[in-house]
Amino acid sequence: MNDGEDEDVEMDGEEEQDEGDDKKYCICHSVSYGNMVACDNDDCPHEWFHWSCVGVKQEPVGKWFCPDCTQGRSLNKR
Ligand SMILES: [Zn+2]
Ligand SMILES: [Zn+2]
Repeated sequence: MNDGEDEDVEMDGEEEQDEGDDKKYCICHSVSYGNMVACDNDDCPHEWFHWSCVGVKQEPVGKWFCPDCTQGRSLNKR
């Protein structure tokens, strides 16, 4: 017998903090491998990119923005 236990906790929709290996990065939506470069845009949808996918041949000096962030949205310049 259940004594009126209607505390049905929602367990769905809370799995966004787990950053496992199968997290998809880059414009190719693949897992991370090899050399990765991070986009300096805080709102970047991908964050990390494979060098080969974005045409990077060596570690970028200073800030680097992915193609999406460079063309897609105009960066807010002061
Ligand atoms: Zn890629
Ligand atoms: Zn970006």
